[in-house]
Amino acid sequence: MLSLNPSTTPKSSALFYFTTPFTNPLYLKTQIPRKAPTKLAHKPFSTTAPHALLQYNRKPQLAGETPRVVVITSGKGGVGKTTTTANVGLSLARLGFSVVAIDADVGLRNLDLLLGLENRVNYTVVEVLNGDCRLDQALVRDKRWSNFELLCISKPRYKLPLGFGGKALVWLVDALKARQEGSPDFIIIDCPAGIDAGFITAITPANEAVLVTTPDITSLRDADRVTGLLESDGIRDIKMMVNRVRTDMIKGEDMMSVLDVQEMLGLALLGVIPEDSEVIRSTNRGYPLVLNKPPTLAGLAFEQAAWRLVERDSMTAVMMEEETKKRGFFSFFGG
Ligand code: ADP
Ligand code: MG
Repeated sequence: MLSLNPSTTPKSSALFYFTTPFTNPLYLKTQIPRKAPTKLAHKPFSTTAPHALLQYNRKPQLAGETPRVVVITSGKGGVGKTTTTANVGLSLARLGFSVVAIDADVGLRNLDLLLGLENRVNYTVVEVLNGDCRLDQALVRDKRWSNFELLCISKPRYKLPLGFGGKALVWLVDALKARQEGSPDFIIIDCPAGIDAGFITAITPANEAVLVTTPDITSLRDADRVTGLLESDGIRDIKMMVNRVRTDMIKGEDMMSVLDVQEMLGLALLGVIPEDSEVIRSTNRGYPLVLNKPPTLAGLAFEQAAWRLVERDSMTAVMMEEETKKRGFFSFFGG
């Protein structure tokens, strides 16, 4: 079981970094200031392309049956579920997969706002179920990426009709599978916070889950609880996304490292998203981060997470020791 007592929480004095097969050397080059390009120039150029570069440039291979129904959940509110749904969803669409994002956060619907599609939602699932419109009329196609569609359950501030539950969502998924233009590759469900009826409804049709958490005790406790509920619902494929990570705070031992989080939750790591003011800016503009040019750090992290989701891959958080003290001149001679 988890130990969430802050006094027993393993505090690391070390900074985390992560290894991933998709680490793009070009990207690293742009993000990390390099000291001495002249020194690099002296290095003989290797004609063998690095494996990581090839990985990044190829199209990811879709693993598993389609549609893959993925619920984005967390337990705690405000940790980044909707941000993850929008950015991972659009990244998947950019990789060429057809995606339907369902906003199942009925009371506090805001996925449409993040995507900048709020003015185009004329019909919702409630109208489809009432027979007032067809399913394709409720699907809002993104103009930027036409293989991305948004589906809202109900109008904002509307109460869900009595009896709307998991069965209705299962019907919806089946209807999407059976539609004329073919089944989507991914159905991504933005789950409401909490663990009550809305949560149960949202996870019912899913066979995979992405658990979003921030590196703090309250979010972790909720995430642990949600993991148990997901598993008891038969969802075994659960990966976590650690959001709003600040390396400066980890260094100062004011924030748990990603490795600490992983040790506590014991889940495979889909992605690590840094705290980035661009996220808030893009939320307010209704323009998802992953569409930003030039890409931001958080945007790239979302893109890589989407890639891992496609390939059912995960990344590894490892400890990086504090900067080693500079060795003296005599160290060359074993000093
Ligand atoms: P949830 O859907 O879990 O309630 P949201 O995705 O709506 O959470 O995010 C809550 C708030 O946190 C939003 O204002 C969003 O802009 C902000 N946020 C999310 N992720 C980050 C991040 N990596 N850096 C900075 N702000 C973030
Ligand atoms: Mg939300």
